Amino acid sequence: MLSYDVVIIGGGLAGMRAAIEAAKYARVALLSKVYPTRSHSGAAQGGLNVVINENDSWQSHMFDTVKGSDYLADQDAVETFCKEAPQAMYDLDHMGLIFDRTEDGHLDQKFTGGATFPRNCFGGDLSGHKILHTLYEQLLKSNVTIHNEFTVIKVLTEEKAFQGLMVYDLKHGQIEVVRAKAALMATGGYGQVFLRTTNDAINTGDGMALALRAGASLQDMEFVQFHPTTLFGSNLLVSETLRGDGGWLLNSDGERFMSRYVPTKMELSPRDIVSRCIQSEIREGRGIDGEDYVHLDVAHLHQSGTFDIMKRFPQVSVIAEKFAGIDISKQRLPVQPAQHYSMGGIMANVDGETGIKGFFAAGECACVSIHGANRLGGNSLIDALVFGKRTGISIGQYAAENTMPTLNNEQQQQERQRIASIMDRSGQESTPHIRKELQTLMSADVGIYRDEESLSNALSTIRQLKRKLPNVGIKDKSQVFNTDLLGYLELEYLVELSEIITLGALKRRESRGSHFRKDYPERHDEEWLKHTLVSLQKDGELMIDHKPVSITDLTPAERTY
Ligand SMILES: Cc1cc2nc3c(=O)[nH]c(=O)nc-3n(C[C@H](O)[C@H](O)[C@H](O)COP(=O)(O)OP(=O)(O)OC[C@H]3O[C@@H](n4cnc5c(N)ncnc54)[C@H](O)[C@@H]3O)c2cc1C
Repeated sequence: MLSYDVVIIGGGLAGMRAAIEAAKYARVALLSKVYPTRSHSGAAQGGLNVVINENDSWQSHMFDTVKGSDYLADQDAVETFCKEAPQAMYDLDHMGLIFDRTEDGHLDQKFTGGATFPRNCFGGDLSGHKILHTLYEQLLKSNVTIHNEFTVIKVLTEEKAFQGLMVYDLKHGQIEVVRAKAALMATGGYGQVFLRTTNDAINTGDGMALALRAGASLQDMEFVQFHPTTLFGSNLLVSETLRGDGGWLLNSDGERFMSRYVPTKMELSPRDIVSRCIQSEIREGRGIDGEDYVHLDVAHLHQSGTFDIMKRFPQVSVIAEKFAGIDISKQRLPVQPAQHYSMGGIMANVDGETGIKGFFAAGECACVSIHGANRLGGNSLIDALVFGKRTGISIGQYAAENTMPTLNNEQQQQERQRIASIMDRSGQESTPHIRKELQTLMSADVGIYRDEESLSNALSTIRQLKRKLPNVGIKDKSQVFNTDLLGYLELEYLVELSEIITLGALKRRESRGSHFRKDYPERHDEEWLKHTLVSLQKDGELMIDHKPVSITDLTPAERTY
């Protein structure tokens, strides 16, 4: 049986940053479903928001973040985040991260949506890739043990205390039990709940679903971010920083339509607003050639000599060429909104504590909450770094002060039997079919625009799909590299999370940030300035509760730009 002081689940930015820190206090292992450098963090293009210019201030970063969140973010947590973000950036710099610099050698910075100062640091449009590899080098240098292609399938807890983990080792086809004093969930988002998403195929929300089953609460799950500009057809991301550098959004009349909606901020309004504007243009028949997309134009920046666009956006240039046959220095890009980020997640504080002793969460799978109802572009990579580091310290110290918990053998046996019975199934339902049906439903009915009818319809269909799960057949009966089994387990997580997202959206009868109800288009602070919490009762039913928003300095105001 494997045994460590601390186990970190996830090899993205949050997991690796935490592991490096925790290893200063304890014997640490990092488990990852995929090889760490394949984590979704590596797909991040834009960059990260930090206050490093003397004309900028953490108060201004905090104001932008809280206003962007539509006042649902916890202000004490946002203050910690904004104050610690610069050091998190310098840490990377000292590890050898190569980011863009100005002529005089300072870190270069640019605008992102909803920001009042150009505070986004970047490495071309390959920011996530660069950070991921820098952290991986540090991880290899540390004494952290890395287990690749180890998929956690169960968090063992009793009486709200962590006991250990159960893992499917893909290469050897075995279910392992991993003992540890403490574990950190850093498993990223659940983008695969939706048909149109910028997220990787591996982003199936495992950590959130497993944490819920283990007794943790999920917070604010109804808030799903849709990114305004993803490439039509593939939904690969087209970074917000193209608009940060002056890109235009155009409808079928060639009009910069944002001037009708938010003339002060234009294309650099927050993501929830720009997504809704694009969707309205499409709905009102001003999509290009009657299709579900508008144009993003950066060619004028190249032609006017403002930027060498191929050098400024090497990744987007290649993506546009390979996936749409477009030369962005000459042609306009077809773009449409798609799911991008989960503001909700495992309820956690700024030190990653979840309310379950010895069980921590950080990164996109956690809800601290600094993004509230809408995250600003450039605030997530730095979220994973700031709270990855803090949680790494707190989990390391926790392990140094606590003893190894005793394992409950009965729970382990039950889980082994559950997996064995899934493997035995020969039902007629198929994982890919149900997954596609679920994703199509979620994009259609729980997307950018929602109402009572679409949400009720989605909820009842999700519950029908849930009832079909026991009839899903597992065709691959072998032990080793069984992606059929893994795909089924991921489907369970997707269905469970879809139900929670939809239930939260149905209950929240107001519009706030990314959650827009056509039947309740106004924000309603008297009733809804509160977080949604969902937990699992003993009988398997979901329980909804609420928690007040922490408000320190910034009184909720109308969100005009
Ligand atoms: C295309 C794209 C572009 C983005 N661009 C930006 C940007 O420019 N700026 C910004 O601030 N944010 C950006 N974001 C958001 C940001 O990249 C993510 O929120 C952040 O990187 C998440 O980091 P993470 O460590 O929490 O998760 P991830 O990087 O997703 O890592 C999750 C890890 O968990 C592991 N895992 C998952 N399930 C299991 C399991 N069951 N068992 C074991 N391991 C498991 C995976 O193997 C993986 O290693 C972007 C996101 C996308 C999708």
